[in-house]
Amino acid sequence: MAALVLVFSPLPRLRGLLQRCWRRLEGGLLPGFCGGRSLPWGPTLAVQAPACLPQPGHDTSEGNEAQSLLDSILWMAAPKKRRTIEVNRCRRRNPNKLIKVKTNIDICPECGNLKQKHILCGYCYAKVKAETQLIRKEMFKQEGGPFNAPTVETVVLYDGEKPTEKDAGKRIIERARKRPSWFAQN
Ligand code: ZN
Repeated sequence: MAALVLVFSPLPRLRGLLQRCWRRLEGGLLPGFCGGRSLPWGPTLAVQAPACLPQPGHDTSEGNEAQSLLDSILWMAAPKKRRTIEVNRCRRRNPNKLIKVKTNIDICPECGNLKQKHILCGYCYAKVKAETQLIRKEMFKQEGGPFNAPTVETVVLYDGEKPTEKDAGKRIIERARKRPSWFAQN
């Protein structure tokens, strides 16, 4: 190494500096180098790696550390072969996975919206529900509180309707609006 530097160094001043440094290193005279001790020079192994690598010269605590690191990793299953796009599409577009086409759609005879044939129309159901809520509110006003309902039948009368002789003795709830077409009078 020193011979190489001597032969190929172009600058004589740099060559002299290198020679002096090399001599000091060989003699172990450089202060503070290797903790003040002069060790014999020889080839050593330097590894650029995380500090968790198990080292043979030390106690077993480092080995335990590496083991715990391996244990802390969450190992997940990974596919070993790539599935082709044809296979994937056959799976995704399998007839069992597709939404069935419905042929039982009908038009509601009351409101004209689309509904399933064997199922109540949602729009009509919402209308009836809202009207029932209003009738219940009127009942609550008459009773003045919960659990006061009389043990008689209830008749709902709309605007412009008079109680008939059939309604004698029944509780009468009056609504201040015209009777809806879907609310039949019994
Ligand atoms: Zn409807």
